[in-house]
Amino acid sequence: MSIAAVAAAILRRRSTSSILPKSASLFHTNHQHRLLSTTRWLQSRTNDDGTREPPPIRVSFTSSAGRGVFATKSIQSGDLIHTAMPIVAHPAASLFNEVCYYCLRRLGAGGDGSEKRFCGDKCEDSAKVFYEVERRANWSAFDDYCIVQGLKYPFLVKRLACMVICGTMSASSLDILQPTTLPSNAIPQMEEEFELLKGAFSNTEIEDEYLTFLTKQWYVDVLARIRINAFRIELSGGSYTDLLNLASASVVSEASVGNAVYMLPSFYNHDCDPNAHIIWVDSVDAKLKALRDIEADEELRICYIDTSMDRNARQRILHQGFGFHCNCPRCKSDD
Ligand SMILES: [Zn+2]
Ligand SMILES: [Zn+2]
Repeated sequence: MSIAAVAAAILRRRSTSSILPKSASLFHTNHQHRLLSTTRWLQSRTNDDGTREPPPIRVSFTSSAGRGVFATKSIQSGDLIHTAMPIVAHPAASLFNEVCYYCLRRLGAGGDGSEKRFCGDKCEDSAKVFYEVERRANWSAFDDYCIVQGLKYPFLVKRLACMVICGTMSASSLDILQPTTLPSNAIPQMEEEFELLKGAFSNTEIEDEYLTFLTKQWYVDVLARIRINAFRIELSGGSYTDLLNLASASVVSEASVGNAVYMLPSFYNHDCDPNAHIIWVDSVDAKLKALRDIEADEELRICYIDTSMDRNARQRILHQGFGFHCNCPRCKSDD
């Protein structure tokens, strides 16, 4: 059964009941159908003639940097390598009511004065099961805390928790991603965030058995992965063709509309002179494009930071933010 079908079934059941059901079936969906696979987050490419083919990439181990993404055939500069959907995404706190709850697309003016959270039926269908879980909890303390503290990643954990409760996602969905080492002084704040997150679900009709995954350890483990793997989503807008034609890693974009964690884009290693780049056109779906001609079996690398910074600044930020010393050809040449 698809997520949309499960959502529809749950909502149908709910709408015919006048009392909030305490039954276990409310949030029960089939976890084994939600098992994570790389392909689930990857969209195949559609050629000009309408045929579809898998993207020209494979994930393999590199000699020095763990996992990496490699080209399986030659790719031309400007080509769209693949598109990736997020595992979890969340709008920026200042834009809760201005971008789509699900795809972060800018919402048009509501017009009728009603509160609009989705850009269309497709996003509403995709998100309604976990949106419904989120709506049942009281987020005022959690949201206020994160906004005052300027925190963005706990919102991704909040979204993930709602997805796990309704069975859209497994509690271990991010385990495949590399975690960062958390400084010990970060733990007390995380514990506070965790208590607020857990507290949001008290006084809801969600039964304890659906919350057993929600432990302090789970929260810290998930956040350790989100902190190093989340992408700041900046929509480029404009023409997608123009964007692909740009032979540069720098795309002028508006401020961040939110944050998201992806599976495959997280496997790309860093290079200060990258051959690939991620762009977001009008939604959270990430598009990986080639910045120059790439040969078969060449590793595809993106730049995690602003490529225009000097070597010292790049080294410092990569070490502080990502925990490694960059040894790319550009850094080695002292550029
Ligand atoms: Zn949307
Ligand atoms: Zn470098």
